[in-house]
Amino acid sequence: MSNSFESTRATDVSQRPVLLVVAHPDDEILGAGIWLRRHARDGRHLLHITDGSPRDMQDARAAGFTTRRSYAAARRSELRAALKMVSIPRRNLHRCNYPDQEAYLHLPALIERVDRLVWELRPSLVISHAYEGGHPDHDSAAFAVAMVRRAMLRRLGRSFRHLEFPLYHAGATGEMITNEFVDGDSRAEVLDLSSAERDLKRRMLNCFRTQVQMLRQFCRDCERFRESPPYDFSRPPHLGLLLYERWGWGISGSVWREKACEAEVYMSRAEPRALSETCRPTVSPSSFSSPSWSSSEES
Ligand SMILES: [Zn+2]
Repeated sequence: MSNSFESTRATDVSQRPVLLVVAHPDDEILGAGIWLRRHARDGRHLLHITDGSPRDMQDARAAGFTTRRSYAAARRSELRAALKMVSIPRRNLHRCNYPDQEAYLHLPALIERVDRLVWELRPSLVISHAYEGGHPDHDSAAFAVAMVRRAMLRRLGRSFRHLEFPLYHAGATGEMITNEFVDGDSRAEVLDLSSAERDLKRRMLNCFRTQVQMLRQFCRDCERFRESPPYDFSRPPHLGLLLYERWGWGISGSVWREKACEAEVYMSRAEPRALSETCRPTVSPSSFSSPSWSSSEES
C-alpha cells in the first residue's frame, strides 16, 4: 500500500512546491513528518495558522510558562528544531499567529491567507488536516484549504490536489481515536515507516518537549493520507459530541459551523475581488501550471 502511495505522489508532485496547512507546531510531524522527509527534493512550504498557545494559559502553565507569548515562542523553537531534521528552511515557514483554539474566529482572513500563498507558490499539492471534530483549529485548516480549492475550481476549472491526514477525533464512547479517519476509510493510503524512519519520527517528536504527554498517544509506525472528500462543513463530521466539545473548551461544533457558513458566504461574495488583487495580474489562470515558482519568506 505504501508503494502505491509513494509512486503516485512521486509522479504527481514532480519537483513542484508542496504546501502543508496545519493548525499547530507538531501537527506537521505527527501527520506528515516522514512524508516531508521522503519529498525532500520538492519545495516544501508550511503554513501554521495558530501560534499553538491557547489564551486560557492552561497548557502554558502546565509546561512551566508564565505568559502566552513565551509558550508560543517555545513551541516555535521546538518546531524549528524538528524541521531542521528534514531540512526545511525557515524561509519556507509561514504563519498566521492566531491564538490556539481561535482560528475559527478568523476564517475569512485565513482563507485569504491560504489563497495568497497558493497564488504565490502555485503548489501542485496542498496537504491539510481532515475535517474530524477533534480540534477546532484542525477543522479550520481543512476548511480554509477546501474553500480555496473550490473557488479555484469554480473560476479556473482546475486547482491543486488536496490530500489530508487524520490526527484525532472522538470515538463512540468519547475516547480519543488517533491516526484514523472518522469514517475509518480503508482506502486511505498508508506510508509504512522503516525502522530508520520511525527513529527519525521519534527524534522529531522529541523536539516538542512541551507536548510530551499529548504526543505519546499517537502512532509512530505509519502516516495515513487520502484525497480530501467534498465535505459539507455545515454538518458535523460525525454523530454525537465532538472531542473538543467533550473537552469543555467553551467552543461548540454548532458555533464553529456557523462561522464556517458565514465565511463561505463571505468568500463567495468576495471571490471576484480577491482574484483581482494586485498580486494576481502577474499570475494569469493559464500560468497556474507553469514550472517557475516564486519563493516566500517567513512572515
Ligand atoms: Zn494540532
